[in-house]
Amino acid sequence: MINLELSEAHQGAEKGMRELAKNLFRPISRKYDKQEHDVPAELAMLDRRPAAKAATEKAKASGAPPAAAKAEKKERVKPETVQNGANMASVISVMQMCWGDVGLMLSVPGAGLGNAAINAVATPEQKERFGHVYASMAITEPASGSDSASIGTTAVLEGDEWVLNGEKIFVTAGGRCDTVVVWATIDKSKGKGAIKSFVIPKGTPGMEVVKLEHKLGIRASDTATILLSNCRIPKDNILGSSEVAEDKRAAFGKVMQTFDNTRPAVAAMAIGCSRASLDLAEELLGKAGISIDFDKPRWEMNAIEAELVRMEAEWEAARLLVLRAAWLADNGEPNSLEASMCKAKAGRVGNVITLRCVELCGSVGYGESELLEKWARDSKILDIFEGTQQIQQLIVARRILEKSSSELK
Ligand SMILES: Cc1cc2nc3c(=O)[nH]c(=O)nc-3n(C[C@H](O)[C@H](O)[C@H](O)COP(=O)(O)OP(=O)(O)OC[C@H]3O[C@@H](n4cnc5c(N)ncnc54)[C@H](O)[C@@H]3O)c2cc1C
Repeated sequence: MINLELSEAHQGAEKGMRELAKNLFRPISRKYDKQEHDVPAELAMLDRRPAAKAATEKAKASGAPPAAAKAEKKERVKPETVQNGANMASVISVMQMCWGDVGLMLSVPGAGLGNAAINAVATPEQKERFGHVYASMAITEPASGSDSASIGTTAVLEGDEWVLNGEKIFVTAGGRCDTVVVWATIDKSKGKGAIKSFVIPKGTPGMEVVKLEHKLGIRASDTATILLSNCRIPKDNILGSSEVAEDKRAAFGKVMQTFDNTRPAVAAMAIGCSRASLDLAEELLGKAGISIDFDKPRWEMNAIEAELVRMEAEWEAARLLVLRAAWLADNGEPNSLEASMCKAKAGRVGNVITLRCVELCGSVGYGESELLEKWARDSKILDIFEGTQQIQQLIVARRILEKSSSELK
């Protein structure tokens, strides 16, 4: 029998993160939507890098503001609940934080996408060096987006150093992070088997943040363009082996495995953001006398009630797919198919729900007095980054039909 209940530990994490979202993220949500490139100073208390942690302790000793102290106390629930299900704990936490604010969740210092890559493949020595940094992930280039096998940034070994050249765009947290994990090819003629990840600390000569984007949504999160011009890093800043494997498909598959963990997390963001929209829309419509009664026969519901029930069902289906992908990862089972399935479903459902909630609430939904219009803008990106809707569908089709990427494009 399938048990759809969350464990007690995960329920604890869920509750703690909801408090954090409510007390820390929501109150500053609109502020950083308006002040696009300002660094959300309120998030410093969540910074788990050693230096920042020490500073928070010092500030606390001198009396931290009550709301911050309250949220921080709740946030501590997480580490105790991570055993036996780190992926599950992660997606549950992300859902709750994104019920608060997606852009702010993406701006928590020390928790960048590059950290996921480092944790997944770094050697013990590299973990020692890079385990406590704030790392962003730079894959996308002006001429390489969905087809990440086509990247043109190069890394050439010269003596004891890699020399990198290229341009990376749309790097989440690229401006604020202290380290960037860069995808580059070590031999363009050898195809995707030669694509490797490199860890480049900020301040390394030859790496420069040249632009910050202005965006439709998630404005609290910075999105940067980074130039690499003869950027030299130590030889052992490569993640994984520098050998170009004979089996290119398997080698690239290993690099792509990072996505098996990050796609459910992005899907979880869509679940959290659309839950926020549903909760608020249902509250506002409830005040106007419209409420959901799941026991009522469908033919007795009015159009809005029926629409809310349909959205709730879609939302729950998407949420269960996310939990399944995380559960498989926690149990050491392959989850590439499920990771793409949940990203496709949650991304699409998230877009539909957040926009429909704007429509259902009319001028209140569209205006800035509520956050419904913001969530509709924030949710769009969740169906784009870490692989678009179309790319997820392509991956699902390839896996089900057992076709390679060259057989099904
Ligand atoms: C706010 C933001 C943050 C981002 N953060 C990061 C980050 O941290 N790191 C990073 O490396 N990148 C990041 N990205 C980049 C993001 O991952 C890419 O935008 C995404 O992968 C799509 O690539 P593209 O924009 O080049 O679109 P393209 O690949 O040019 O695609 C354009 C359209 O064509 C469709 N399409 C493409 N190929 C196919 C196909 N074979 N079949 C059917 N349809 C297809 C796509 O679905 C899309 O709708 C970010 C982007 C944004 C906007």
